[in-house]
Amino acid sequence: GKGAAMVTAVAYRLAIQQAERKLILDTLRLSREQLLEVKERMSDAMLKGLSRQTHQQASVKMLPSFVRATPNGTEHGDFLTLDLGGSSFRVLLVRVRAGTKHVEMNQKIYSIPQEIMQGTGEELFDHIVSSIADFLEYKGMKGASLPLGFTFSFPCYQSRLDKGILLKWTKGFKASGCEGQDVVKLLKEAVRRRMEFDLSFVAVVNDTVGTMMTCGYEDPQCEMGLIVGTGTNVCYMEEMRNIERLEDDEGQMCVNMEWGAFGENGELDDFCTHFDQTVDETSSTPGKQRDCEKCLMELTNKGLLYRGKVSERLKTHGIFETKFLSRIESDRLAMRQVRSILQHLGLTGSTCDDSVLVKEVCSVVSRRAAQLCGAGLAAVVDKIRENRNLNHLSISVGVDGTLYKTHPHFSSIMQETLQDLAPQCKILFRKSEDGSGKGAALITAVACRVRQEQSE
Ligand code: BGC
Ligand code: MG
Repeated sequence: GKGAAMVTAVAYRLAIQQAERKLILDTLRLSREQLLEVKERMSDAMLKGLSRQTHQQASVKMLPSFVRATPNGTEHGDFLTLDLGGSSFRVLLVRVRAGTKHVEMNQKIYSIPQEIMQGTGEELFDHIVSSIADFLEYKGMKGASLPLGFTFSFPCYQSRLDKGILLKWTKGFKASGCEGQDVVKLLKEAVRRRMEFDLSFVAVVNDTVGTMMTCGYEDPQCEMGLIVGTGTNVCYMEEMRNIERLEDDEGQMCVNMEWGAFGENGELDDFCTHFDQTVDETSSTPGKQRDCEKCLMELTNKGLLYRGKVSERLKTHGIFETKFLSRIESDRLAMRQVRSILQHLGLTGSTCDDSVLVKEVCSVVSRRAAQLCGAGLAAVVDKIRENRNLNHLSISVGVDGTLYKTHPHFSSIMQETLQDLAPQCKILFRKSEDGSGKGAALITAVACRVRQEQSE
């Protein structure tokens, strides 16, 4: 009768929906060939960024960091460190004692109000300096004059360690009048305005470089740094002769890849074309699909995809935090709990079916991000291996970042992919605890020692 016909119609519609879902999710799955292609394109992008002729047009800028060696244990002294551009803004006092490998750290976390992040550069740097002043007072060191390691996790052109021209803000920072300026100069001007303390020296350090240095303090094989968190990026020790934009050809220097910009020259277009389509198609059933969209967007922001293309939209979403993703994908979590997370996010009325879908989308998308990360890393480690004319390379990577640290499967998928795409390399991943703060202090320590030696 009529009832049976309706049941058939509903079943039919469900079947179509399922097929559509599968189709959509399949476009987000990457084959081994595609991943090899990503590796290849990353290799090309690296060469483009390093070469004098092509640097201008390159998406991956391969920025010299002016850090020429990993630590050797002779670093010494008391240093301030600032950490700007990660999940929190912090001021630290770092005491490094030569020969002991013991580093004592004290820190205080400060907030950066939204209106300051998006106000003027002067306001931002005044806020930073007032936080340092507060910290010094808190430590009973009012009016001190210390060297400072400035972990500034944004792309900077450096021509020396104590100078960093901000190329562009990333990760939602917007303060005006900073792009194209030397952030050391901006910081020192703000210190001068306040007239309360002094900084004897300021080293600009990307968070990847700080993370590498921290791990390098314990493990001399650590020659790379990786961040997968609010942003994503890699640094590694490159041969000076390959850094064409620098005259010197002797030895090595750590290069801040700024690989988050990979894709800006269309390198990932082939793998993403169905993505917009997905977002579009799914809009026929709002609520639910917006969840997927947020999840996708959030991860693309954390991962490598669509960098710089949809970031405006990402900012308006952003409710689907990494911690929810990590929890939803946790194997022990029942669907009922997934549902309650979604409800907690204000996504009421989600059905059990929705929860299954959300979990599936999350897992497909995070897998893709982890695989892309692994493919990118494969290009880097094979370059290091080829630089050294080795059949086999064995090095470690210092890693930090909320997504990497909290996600239940990200790191294992990333490592599997890397192993598969760069079989001649054996890579050990070391989670770094508080990496960037300690590393920046170590870098500052080396710079201060060299300066001292030169002035003697
Ligand atoms: C920045 C990098 C940084 C990365 C991780 C990116 O947005 O451009 O300099 O290393 O985020 O914090
Ligand atoms: Mg050179």
